[in-house]
Amino acid sequence: MPGRNFLFVPGPTNVPERILRAMDRAMEDHRSSAFPTLTAALLRDLKKVFRTTTGQAFIFPATGTGGWEAALVNTLSPGDRVLAPRYGQFSHLWIDLAQRHGLRVDIIDVEWGEGAPAERIEEILTADTQHEIRGVLVVHNETATGVTSDLAAVRAAMDAARHPALLYVDGVSSIGSLEFRMDEWKVDLAITGSQKGLMLPAGLGLVCASPQALAARERAKCPRVFFDFGAVIDVAFRRHNLALGAGLARLAGKLFRIGHLGDLNELMLLGAIAGAEMAMRDVGIKVTPGAGVAAAAEHYRGTAAPLPPRPAAAPSPDAPHQPSPRVMVER
Ligand SMILES: *Cc1c(COP(=O)(O)O)cnc(C)c1O
Repeated sequence: MPGRNFLFVPGPTNVPERILRAMDRAMEDHRSSAFPTLTAALLRDLKKVFRTTTGQAFIFPATGTGGWEAALVNTLSPGDRVLAPRYGQFSHLWIDLAQRHGLRVDIIDVEWGEGAPAERIEEILTADTQHEIRGVLVVHNETATGVTSDLAAVRAAMDAARHPALLYVDGVSSIGSLEFRMDEWKVDLAITGSQKGLMLPAGLGLVCASPQALAARERAKCPRVFFDFGAVIDVAFRRHNLALGAGLARLAGKLFRIGHLGDLNELMLLGAIAGAEMAMRDVGIKVTPGAGVAAAAEHYRGTAAPLPPRPAAAPSPDAPHQPSPRVMVER
């Protein structure tokens, strides 16, 4: 059939010509020093898309479904209870994913064509006096029916119940298209993909996490590897301003490297080791605070050069001028 294929599926959406042309370029080295300039700007600008100043954005080579998984496994533990209204295929699939991770999902079945029932959510959370429910999972725009839920009302219901559960929002077909206000609605985990409202090719799972969500990560026990929000290295950089090298090839993910060439000394290295310890503890690795610093300090003491002689006192200004060795050049 000649002519253009008219693409009218919910996603992938049509990508503007300008973007298609911008993509026509050679691959780049993702380990080059120029690459972080690109990603740092993307992470900063993404916060504007989510309408957050306090959240932290993450980009995964994945789709929206990967974003769902990342949001759940970074903040919850198997056996945790979550509350999820179901009113279409996408809310159904998200519940299925949560169950496969061992979460106990309290499902509120709602007629397809309706949205998230704020009053029901308030009732159930109010009844949960022990605060067992850890999260409320809401699909903002249920693409299967085209119905948009009122997130401000869901947040108001959670606040009215005075319940500390986190608010998880699937914004895959809303963020970038419909109004979305992460900070104002106190959304804790906002999820989207690149191929719908953002008019980009498929392939990026985008997640934004509130400070409360990042704090939940410290106790969350769901197994996570590829979708982990932290590696020691990332936490060290963002929280402690310490840049460590990643393990390479066969050592990838198993260690980090502390570069120690260049203009530095032992005391500076002790700072790096202390920062690495702090970051490791931040991500839940059991290291005794100061253990590495103490061992290294003792090693440096033992291997330090012998005490140099005290420098000679500077000559007094009245003393007769002594030519410095440098000018006594033989001719
Ligand atoms: C498309 C869609 C998803 C799935 O996203 P993928 O990027 O295909 O994984 C999830 N939720 C909603 C609301 C969607 O529209």
